[in-house]
Amino acid sequence: MPARREPTGATRVAAVIGDPVRHSLSPAIHNAGFAAAGLDWVYVALPVPAGSAALAVSAMRTLGIEGLSVTMPHKDAVAAAVDRLSPAAKALGAVNCVRRVGDTLVGESTDGIGFVRSLRDEAGFEPAGRRVVVLGAGGAARAVVFALAAAGAAEVVVINRSADRAAVAAALAGAAGRVGRPEEVGDAELVVNATSVGMAGGQPGPALPLDPDRIGPGQLVTDLIYHPLQTPLLQAASSRGARTLNGVGMLLYQAAEAFEMWTGVPAPIDAMRDAVFAQVGGPPAP
Ligand code: NDP
Repeated sequence: MPARREPTGATRVAAVIGDPVRHSLSPAIHNAGFAAAGLDWVYVALPVPAGSAALAVSAMRTLGIEGLSVTMPHKDAVAAAVDRLSPAAKALGAVNCVRRVGDTLVGESTDGIGFVRSLRDEAGFEPAGRRVVVLGAGGAARAVVFALAAAGAAEVVVINRSADRAAVAAALAGAAGRVGRPEEVGDAELVVNATSVGMAGGQPGPALPLDPDRIGPGQLVTDLIYHPLQTPLLQAASSRGARTLNGVGMLLYQAAEAFEMWTGVPAPIDAMRDAVFAQVGGPPAP
């Protein structure tokens, strides 16, 4: 592992704002990336209370912070505070990353593109022309739905506990999007769990809105959850012959996208992945 540089007066600063933010994995991931790429950059976590997002964006200018990651509860408020939004951030009304273009602060959304990059790079799955079922309609699901449609998915079917939120999410996929029924999961080439069901520390035993017996060989089943690495859905899918992918790839590649926007340097993926596994407990046994 390359030695970390001591910060100097010339060190460039990136940060994550959120509340809470002390548990964030982003400092470990980005600092590993900066070290591996030989960049004189440092990444820190800054707790910012709800209601202060616009002040934090303003401080980014004042303090010369080069890149900002944004997590709960600030994603919507930062979207309203930056100068410009990328097409994804505009469609979602949410920002998870701010970059500087000259004096302009641009709000970006790297979760969805990070997910698509993880599909391509970690699972060899090209979403263009594919039928996809997305379970869930929260912030992560909406980012994934938008990105899958932008990547050319033929159909993006959203299944969610709350029907009104499902319709909002499905609309993000334009003509390719619609609200679906749980039994349609068997028709999909890609199944994405973007609900929080299966997360460690979540409610005990809530069931996903799908019948695992409808999953089988020929499908790729992904879970955005990375804690635990092997969720009940991924276990069920694996035992029925489907290929599986956990949420580590999305976590990694959304950070890689931000890293590349800020620094202009290709992200050192292996070093950043090692940093993720050092935090979440290592890759599952093959
Ligand atoms: P939200 O709170 O915005 O959305 C939660 C979603 O889960 C909603 O669709 C909600 O349904 C559904 N849900 C929650 N409980 C249940 C239940 N008991 N039964 C059925 N559906 C349920 O969360 P996010 O979108 O921010 O995050 C969702 C998941 O994605 C989390 O597990 C998070 O850890 C993961 N994630 C992973 C990332 C990565 O980099 N790998 C990045 C971001 C998120 P309803 O609309 O009906 O309430």
